[in-house]
Amino acid sequence: MSSLQLSPMLWLVGFQLGLYAFAWVLVSQLLGEERSAVMHWGLFLLLTSVTLMLAGARTEPRSWLVYNGANIASLFAFASMRRGVERFMRLPPSDREQALLLGAACAVFAWLGPGPEQASWRVVLAYGVQGVIMLRTFQRAWAPMRAEFGRRTLIAIAVPGLMIGTMLMFLSLRQLFDWSNPNEMQRNTTASVALMYYYLGGAALFNFGFMVLLTQRLVLGLRRASRRDELTGIANRRAMDEALERAWQRFHRHGRGFAVVLVDIDHFKRINDTLGHAAGDAVLVQVAQRLQQHARASDAVGRVGGEEFLLLLDETAAAPARLSAERLRTLLDGAPVAAAGQALTVTASVGVAVIDVRDRDVDALIRRADRALYRAKADGRNRVAFDDGA
Ligand code: GH3
Ligand code: MG
Ligand code: MG
Repeated sequence: MSSLQLSPMLWLVGFQLGLYAFAWVLVSQLLGEERSAVMHWGLFLLLTSVTLMLAGARTEPRSWLVYNGANIASLFAFASMRRGVERFMRLPPSDREQALLLGAACAVFAWLGPGPEQASWRVVLAYGVQGVIMLRTFQRAWAPMRAEFGRRTLIAIAVPGLMIGTMLMFLSLRQLFDWSNPNEMQRNTTASVALMYYYLGGAALFNFGFMVLLTQRLVLGLRRASRRDELTGIANRRAMDEALERAWQRFHRHGRGFAVVLVDIDHFKRINDTLGHAAGDAVLVQVAQRLQQHARASDAVGRVGGEEFLLLLDETAAAPARLSAERLRTLLDGAPVAAAGQALTVTASVGVAVIDVRDRDVDALIRRADRALYRAKADGRNRVAFDDGA
């Protein structure tokens, strides 16, 4: 009798989760690379919905499908969730481990059967395995998520995720200590009603977590793209402006000096005019590569104009900055680059300036480097000029 009263609630919550599943499948169609992961998450919610629907259909006498079937669907749901996370994080799927775990659990469910005497066993097993899958998912994805998204995003995902994992383990353990009172969800008890609130809350947390993962990947990808020069792959003007601003702050707070090196390819227009624009592009790509090879890890290198590049040398004083610029110049004219099937010697003029207390802002420093560059051009090109602030 009592089971009849709770069924509508199970169906209602199941229906809600089914809607979420449907929404995720729709969202997955908008995605490219993440489609498969999101489909897995949709399947997770769909199978959880099926679990609740089946549990809502539980009657006496007992049938295998609605008792053991519901439990098995719940395990496949969590396995799908884990597989989706692995897909999303580009991790090799733990299919063997999952198959072993699910195979063993299904065998035990089959062996237990739907009988009321085994109800507590089924509850312990279902929540226990769900909890294990949840915790294993985190164990696996923790380091790659931290590496990709950083600590703050990881916390936003880990806190709700670990709450769910802990809750599942708690549900399993509680049953162990309350053996005579099986917490089957169709039974009209306070615990079952509480469980439905837990399912609703848990589904909201999962949706939130999946959404955070998707949006963070999108945002980080856009941010990265907005700071890269499309042709050469090195930093663009915006990224260099940010790097300069940070260096400027370090200089003012901690007195850490830095130098800027402006590099402008000589007679670049001629390359375009004689060999074509594509050859010009090829030259730009190779020059960018050489500049990047030249730079130390703490330096920033970017393309700040058509054939102009900027290097920011961290904690570098006048003499070493000049030396570095000279090495860079010889790195360019020392070996030809390949363009339009030809070996082409490319030279550049270089202007160097070191930050000084008299510089009112970063622009003042850049203007000095630009002045030096202009002098290098005027003095005959393929040379380094230094602005000493005088
Ligand atoms: P100088 O030695 O005085 O620097 O002469 P220059 O020819 O290098 O300088 P100028 O500023 O007259 O010409 C730069 C040329 O760079 C003009 C422009 O068409 C070309 N350019 C700008 N951006 C690109 C690009 O993305 N690809 C190619 N192939 N050419 C570009
Ligand atoms: Mg130029
Ligand atoms: Mg030029």
